[in-house]
Amino acid sequence: MLNGKLAVITGGGTGIGLACAEKLSSMGARTILMGRNLQRLQDAALKIDGARAVQLDVTSDESVAAAFAEAAQDGPVDILVNNAGIAAATAFHKTSMEEWARIQAVNVEGLVRCSQAVLGDMKQATYARQINIASIAGLRGGAFIAPYVASKHAVVGLTKSLSLEYAHTGMTVNAVCPGYVKTAIVDNAIANIMEKTGRTEEQAVAELTKNNPQGRLIEVEEIAEVVGWLCSPLSGSVSGQSITVSGGAI
Ligand code: NAP
Repeated sequence: MLNGKLAVITGGGTGIGLACAEKLSSMGARTILMGRNLQRLQDAALKIDGARAVQLDVTSDESVAAAFAEAAQDGPVDILVNNAGIAAATAFHKTSMEEWARIQAVNVEGLVRCSQAVLGDMKQATYARQINIASIAGLRGGAFIAPYVASKHAVVGLTKSLSLEYAHTGMTVNAVCPGYVKTAIVDNAIANIMEKTGRTEEQAVAELTKNNPQGRLIEVEEIAEVVGWLCSPLSGSVSGQSITVSGGAI
């Protein structure tokens, strides 16, 4: 269905990003996995037909320029999944400005850099897709994760603005907003809850799953499915949306 279209997935070596790469590849796209850990990306790329690994640190202008120049050797990027992201949990009154900046640098400014890196080609194209992996934290508040919540609200706002600004082109811009998904970020959140509250692993998992009316953690493939649908040629009228995948939490 995607017929050789070129898809870049940031944070593509793990978790949601890797599942998106597998899904887009299964739909016929050529995939480039980007992230900081080149060995992990290369290992992941070996398991996806024709995938390529390219090192990228979204917080660096030079790294983004070099990575997307390397990607451009395969032709213009048709699909960008802005998935690279980090999370941290701390009480707001204990949050340093360094910690605030660290999260915005990856989740917001990194996304801006990558988005701009492909816009030159995308705004000329008859088909292009930018998909931003936000979070339900981009649509509602959350205690102890204020910098993350602010960053994901920024992603949702950027998605809406870019969708309007480039509506006259062949590009759509959408956000996917997961609830808690079984990945390293959630493993860290569980470890953090156990450490800070003395709860057992089972209790920590229950703390997270109570946010989902279906009472479970979401699978990475469920997020990738929505990303795949947004990339289909027939989804061209869907733009500026923030699609929640959260068991009905929002
Ligand atoms: P993950 O496995 O930790 O994925 C995060 C990815 O981001 C990693 O592959 C990491 O690769 C990459 N990354 C981090 N900093 C980077 C940087 N400076 N430059 C380039 N890449 C960077 O966790 P995940 O759950 O799949 O997260 C993916 C996205 O989903 C994130 O945006 C997250 O906020 C969002 N999300 C997750 C959940 C959840 O419950 N898991 C819920 C809602 C939204 P390297 O370390 O190799 O750089």
